[in-house]
Amino acid sequence: MAFGKDRAAIGKMNLRQEMKRGTKRAPKSSGGGGGAPYFVNKYQPPDSGASDIIRVIPGSYPTPRVDLDAKDYVRDKNGNIVVDNFSYIKYVEYYHAVKNRSCIGSEGPLGEFKGKGQPCVAADWYWYEWRLRKANNSEKPNAMARREKFAFTVLVQAPFYKVPRTDRQTGQLIMNQVTNEPYYDWLKGSKRGNDEYASAGYERKEGHLQHWSLGYGHWSSLTEYTDSLARHCRACSTQDSIEQVALICQHCGDAIVEFDSTSLTDEELEKVRNEPTACSSCGVVDYLEDMIRCNSCGHGEQATLFDFDIEVKRVKTAGAEGNQTTLQFLRAIGPRQIDKVYGDDLRKPLPLDKIFAPTPIDRQIELFGNVPEDPQANGQGSGGGGGSGRQPSTKGARSYGS
Ligand SMILES: [Zn+2]
Ligand SMILES: [Zn+2]
Repeated sequence: MAFGKDRAAIGKMNLRQEMKRGTKRAPKSSGGGGGAPYFVNKYQPPDSGASDIIRVIPGSYPTPRVDLDAKDYVRDKNGNIVVDNFSYIKYVEYYHAVKNRSCIGSEGPLGEFKGKGQPCVAADWYWYEWRLRKANNSEKPNAMARREKFAFTVLVQAPFYKVPRTDRQTGQLIMNQVTNEPYYDWLKGSKRGNDEYASAGYERKEGHLQHWSLGYGHWSSLTEYTDSLARHCRACSTQDSIEQVALICQHCGDAIVEFDSTSLTDEELEKVRNEPTACSSCGVVDYLEDMIRCNSCGHGEQATLFDFDIEVKRVKTAGAEGNQTTLQFLRAIGPRQIDKVYGDDLRKPLPLDKIFAPTPIDRQIELFGNVPEDPQANGQGSGGGGGSGRQPSTKGARSYGS
């Protein structure tokens, strides 16, 4: 019997568990956040010393649940793949440093397991180089970088201006050949005076939706920060009023951990809170539910990341090579509703599943070329060389982005 078949781990996850889930077995990356300049309308918190106020807008993206031990999808009693609706999108970005081109990997949710991924030329290139490095016992070739990314929709609460797109080299307008009109981008203006976009007279609006992609390091910071917001009550909008009473089984309702009397260490507690845990009463292995109490109202509800306006910026990582940054959260304003200034169109998530759809195979071949015949390959395709679902060391691979 395969692991995971009878686990029935199909209960709901809270946001903390959902976000932690995204990083299970993700490679330890030395890179900061950021990404390639591949997509338009990409959000990045400022790293200039200034900060932004943003509201993270949850989406609902069907994501098949993967059993990391069985290296396969989790299935229910009827053999159907269990699908969670995640508020964010997880994808793999490949960047070829020599060709200066990037794409979204097409290997799919099982891509990190040898021989189980969907076809992906970029992944094949990555693993091809990895095998050459192994064979040469060297750090070259390392042109292709692979990074797991997580993307949310954010409402950036600042003035934006509709600015015509220009060629970086020539400064000339880039025209749409069909309409003979320039392309436009909504660009964030400065909140203070002497704003060049304002003085140029471009059309202005308040707030804009963008997509925010985070690498592993930034995602971990956001996950931790999210966890800290759960001590505020969204029902009565009181800060620091939520107390955790117990962790209970979603299936039989028994309390597995009572915080007053638990003898678990902090580390054990962290694991039980974030990962599927066996219920000592009914035996089902699933995510535990938080039982909480609000000291201020009788119907307390833990606030989540989506209940706050967050002030955020990036700070250059001290002593780091290149342009690595860490995320810094200056304050969480709330819990409260999104300001009425922002209309319905600014409260809906972007179609992240379409924006970060896998790059088609033929396009990948155009971008990177066909992977050479590889005498050391064993015909397993994407994900080869990783063994046990782990990623090779990224030592020697270049990090990119900011
Ligand atoms: Zn139970
Ligand atoms: Zn309350």
